[in-house]
Amino acid sequence: MRGSLLVIALVTAGVPNMLADDGMFPMSELPRVNLRERGIELTAEQLFNPSEISLVDGICRVNGCTGSFVSDSGLIITNHHCAFDAIQKASTSDRDLLTNGFIAGSRGEEIPAPDYQVRITENYRDISAEVLSVVQEGMSFLERTKAIEKRRKELEIEAERQHPGLRAEAAEMFAGRTYVLFLYTYLKDVRLVFAPPASVGNFGGEADNWEWPRHTGDFSFMRAYTAPDGSSATWSAQNIPYRPKRFLRVQSAGVDEGDAVFLLGYPGRTARHRTASFLQYESRVRLPLTVQLYQWQIRQMEEAGVGDRSVAIRHASRTKSLANVEKRSRGQLQGLQRAQIVEKRLQQESELQSCIEADEVLRPKYGSVLRDIAAVYAEMESAGPLEIHLQQLRQACRAAAFGFAVVDAVHERAKPDIERESPWMDRNYAQSVQELKVSLRDWHPPTDVEMLSGMLRRLSSIPGARQIPALIPLTESEQICEQAAKRLIEGTRLGDAGFIEQSLGQTVDQLRATKDPLLTLLLDLYSSYRQLRELDKTREGRLSRLYGSLLEVKGQFLRTGFIPDANGTLRFTSGRVRAYSPADAVVRTPISTLRGVIEKTTGQDPFITPEPVLRAYGARDFKGFLHPRLGQVPVAILYDTDTTGGNSGSPVLNSKGELVGVNFDRCFEATINDFAWNADYSRSIGVDIRYVLWITGRVYGATQLLDEMGVALAE
Ligand code: ASP
Repeated sequence: MRGSLLVIALVTAGVPNMLADDGMFPMSELPRVNLRERGIELTAEQLFNPSEISLVDGICRVNGCTGSFVSDSGLIITNHHCAFDAIQKASTSDRDLLTNGFIAGSRGEEIPAPDYQVRITENYRDISAEVLSVVQEGMSFLERTKAIEKRRKELEIEAERQHPGLRAEAAEMFAGRTYVLFLYTYLKDVRLVFAPPASVGNFGGEADNWEWPRHTGDFSFMRAYTAPDGSSATWSAQNIPYRPKRFLRVQSAGVDEGDAVFLLGYPGRTARHRTASFLQYESRVRLPLTVQLYQWQIRQMEEAGVGDRSVAIRHASRTKSLANVEKRSRGQLQGLQRAQIVEKRLQQESELQSCIEADEVLRPKYGSVLRDIAAVYAEMESAGPLEIHLQQLRQACRAAAFGFAVVDAVHERAKPDIERESPWMDRNYAQSVQELKVSLRDWHPPTDVEMLSGMLRRLSSIPGARQIPALIPLTESEQICEQAAKRLIEGTRLGDAGFIEQSLGQTVDQLRATKDPLLTLLLDLYSSYRQLRELDKTREGRLSRLYGSLLEVKGQFLRTGFIPDANGTLRFTSGRVRAYSPADAVVRTPISTLRGVIEKTTGQDPFITPEPVLRAYGARDFKGFLHPRLGQVPVAILYDTDTTGGNSGSPVLNSKGELVGVNFDRCFEATINDFAWNADYSRSIGVDIRYVLWITGRVYGATQLLDEMGVALAE
């Protein structure tokens, strides 16, 4: 089946082969990449081959992260922070797996992670022409977006019909120009196998997050299961471990400074092809607001958890992910300024504009593109505070998130399937409901009172919010905000799984008749949220058309190729283990070691090192895991590949395609990667395979996992 699908080229026609150092290359671009020059001994076909088994068969996506199969029995290695939600959901104050870690003594003891899914890329094909065929002259921007959305869904449904058992997802590669349909295997029974204590897996916490040097053992093991016949199935005691077509060989010798490495993974989002006006919107509105709102939410959750571990556990996963984005946003704000990215992009755009102006054929067609794009972002800039606060109202307050999902589902389910928002289409409905139910488990009403009252208070001072009728009576004064939040949260049943289940099966009128106070508020606010959604789609339609034109005209002037921005699809990136200089006269070497863990250990969170690690360190129990030159167990490595969020958990592979580490982060300066890659400061961070094996096998004695991976412990 795979061989029959087309291999496509995404580079704009007429543009020479690209060999930029940056780049998250889609599989279709691999034949153009000079792998030898990059120090890689494998061929493009050995990495990805549509008709045979290749390395990518050993790579999977684990929720929003990446993972790799490391045994023929579905064993997956990924990051501790990627398995964090599963570890948290399985933790209680009596059985605190976050603090103590977890080792499944047998397959039967592995813990189901009901909101996890594993995805494997099977194939892809270009569908640009089929998608764009529905765009007609004279369509409004909203109509354009909706027509494209609908066509993408139709193609997905059609492909799933042709390939039973596989899932199809259409991805936009270049806005308004190229679309690719990916076929995936989805595995729905995923279980936790091994997690080190958070004091290893999250050593250094937020203080060290996005920093180098790093001493975090950010890895965990999970396992994917299937039905006995090998088909994808949700959890059942009868399920058997998944048999991947290929699994990665673990190379316990690791890598050294200067060695070539490459990564395969599922990077989430980048914005390299966006204009300076977009970056201005980011730096003036979205990023600062994210920092502000997340800092406040993190504080609320942390305060709620003081003195009550069970509450702290419930908030752990959300706090961690907000803190991750909050610090990344600060890094991006700083990086945008320091690297003068906006100025540089403005300069490039002004050169492009002059070329367009000087050409009589191009001028009428492209003369206003940059200006028109800037007009969209200017509109977003002025509407940003209201829009972002409204979105946050139903994210910060978890019960509002649950309630909005119900209201949205009920409205959408009343439409024909193809017109529904994607999560509520028949093919996605069960999964969306499952995720909603799992998220209810962490609900903590007192925190929600603080979140809701805080959001109402913030909204009360935003022009525009006071024009939304449902908000007026709730935001009249600080005291009213507080009282309203208390009344709404204390009176709601939206934290109750039974109520949610029942509500999902009702009509809008029946939802109203429940008289649930928070549900009623969300019903009243629904038209505002719907307007926001339509507005987003209108902007998307405008931008997609304009960016399509921009790319077209850029392709004619720049002697360089384009690689599509990251969009959660499979990508290749390569580089070398390399030092960097974050500031004048400062050079940071690229391998950290266990000595650094000990030096950083203060005994205070987040720099506590567990007893078993200290004991093994004291006993110099390192045989087989020492770095030959450094004479220490290496902990983390630094390399200049091009990565972003979603590459978390990506295998770090040596020149032969063997696993030598697990990617988990970037240095602070590289948070700016999302907007622009740079050879001087773009560095990614992975946990060294020797630390993974030492912690798992030597320190915590899970030797069965080393056996399963075919790694022998030195005697
Ligand atoms: N630690 C990062 C994240 O989870 C990975 C990255 O963005 O490079 O977002």
